[in-house]
Amino acid sequence: MPGLLKSPKVVAPTTAHGSHDKVPSVIDTTNFIDNQFLPSRAEKWFEVRDPATNFLVTRVPQSTQAELEAAVASAERAFPSWRATSIMRRQQVIFKLTYLIRENMDRLARNIVLEQGKTFADAKGDVLRGLQVCETACGITTQLPGEVIEVARDMETRSYREPLGVTAAICPFNFPAMIPLWSLPLALVTGNTLVLKPSERDPGAALIIAELCVEAGVPAGVLNIIHGAHATVNFILDNPIIKAISFVGSNRAGEYVWTRGTANGKRVQANLGAKNHAALLPDCNKNHALNAIIGAAFGAAGQRCMALSALVLVGETRNWVSELVERTSQLKLKGGFEQDADLGPVISPESKKRVEDLIASAEAEGATIVLDGRGQKPIGSQFAQGNWVGPTIITNVKPHMRCYTEEIFGPVLVCVEVDTVEAALELINGNEYGNGASVFTNSGPTATLFQKSLEAGQIGINVPIPVPLPMFSFTGNKRSVAGTGMANFYGKDGIRFYTQWKTVTSLWRAEDALATEKQVAMPTQQ
Ligand code: NAD
Repeated sequence: MPGLLKSPKVVAPTTAHGSHDKVPSVIDTTNFIDNQFLPSRAEKWFEVRDPATNFLVTRVPQSTQAELEAAVASAERAFPSWRATSIMRRQQVIFKLTYLIRENMDRLARNIVLEQGKTFADAKGDVLRGLQVCETACGITTQLPGEVIEVARDMETRSYREPLGVTAAICPFNFPAMIPLWSLPLALVTGNTLVLKPSERDPGAALIIAELCVEAGVPAGVLNIIHGAHATVNFILDNPIIKAISFVGSNRAGEYVWTRGTANGKRVQANLGAKNHAALLPDCNKNHALNAIIGAAFGAAGQRCMALSALVLVGETRNWVSELVERTSQLKLKGGFEQDADLGPVISPESKKRVEDLIASAEAEGATIVLDGRGQKPIGSQFAQGNWVGPTIITNVKPHMRCYTEEIFGPVLVCVEVDTVEAALELINGNEYGNGASVFTNSGPTATLFQKSLEAGQIGINVPIPVPLPMFSFTGNKRSVAGTGMANFYGKDGIRFYTQWKTVTSLWRAEDALATEKQVAMPTQQ
């Protein structure tokens, strides 16, 4: 079948969830190879359903072996001329892409609401955080320069960064625009080509971004998109042409990707799961802290790697639970297109069941469910079958309980009580994850103690979701990253990840301007 130059994806046709039991003309998601949207010949397909209604939105192929190979071959063909394209030209392409993503923010966000379920405002935030990586990548001409020094008379050593070749990105479902854009702008602007695998649960935003890449002037083959689950991941891990892999997702998949990818000699950056804590101290600005914690725990239905999912109530703040519950119960659980929605559904029926099972396990292990979101759903018959779980708060949680040890990835906040600041630090550092941690206090010295003592890689002081903007890097640690944590996403580390140093020592003897004489001994001039 011939390819298409525009993404044929059905993007939320209106700003409301449908009232039918399936989109009447569901269009299958295509591969994107050589700047064309190519229908797949797949035998296996994954259904993407609107999490708010479970109506069918599209089918995503398990790209065939031939399609996977065609994508990598296309990226390999495109590499020599893309790396030889001047940095000024590559920069211009990313400038244009940045402009186009901003122009298409609502379109991207509508697709994210439909496929992922988050609210429209939050979906725009998803796009914005990816856009900011593009914006920062526009400064590549001042970020990429190497170093040069005259090391001896007439002898210079210079080092500069070269692209790696064909790279790959494997993305999770929870940020369908932001996470592809953690990789794409930096991979491309540094001269690599990229084979991207979006989550099979919500690939639409990545395909819209591909369309914008074509419009921005990205040449054919520089970006290719393939689909699927484990088989596609294994193909990427084992393909010898692919030099580097960016992975974001769960520990189960990510530790496997890191182990097999590095064993195959590839560079791998892998951001994994989390259990982010907030320590609530009695001297904080209570109003700000409670609002911030509620936003960070329940926004995006808790499906953020930097969601605050564990609250450490220090001292008398244990008495603030009723106020926390009262404010949380005012959150509006609604379809993402609905006006004033605060949180939407979770991604799938399986995810809903897992979240509900973890709430039940807390009850069984002796914790107290002070706000129970099980069984909640918005009004409207179209939402009857959606994956709804309302905001849930669990108190009397002990560190051995499953609801504390496991990443819930749903709208559930677990609360642990401690008496002292030292106990809070010990508890938080005892957790195996290390993405982020926040402290709410008005004491500078106490905040500094937390800043210096906490092991998490991203610390918030009176800030609930301390995700660094892309002039910095995303710096999770402990089990929230695979490997040694030396390959962070975006920022300076991102550029390092997508480039390799070349160091050149050259001798241009001044006297050779007039004459040449053979010299066989090791150079000794100072
Ligand atoms: P996931 O691990 O299920 O999927 C991520 C990717 O891996 C997908 O493309 C999927 O197709 C593939 N995959 C899934 N299971 C696999 C397996 N067994 N073998 C090979 N490939 C596999 O993750 P998800 O559910 O899509 O995303 C949620 C997870 O991602 C959470 O754990 C969250 O904390 C994490 N996350 C982390 C960050 C971060 O920066 N630390 C950011 C976003 C999400």
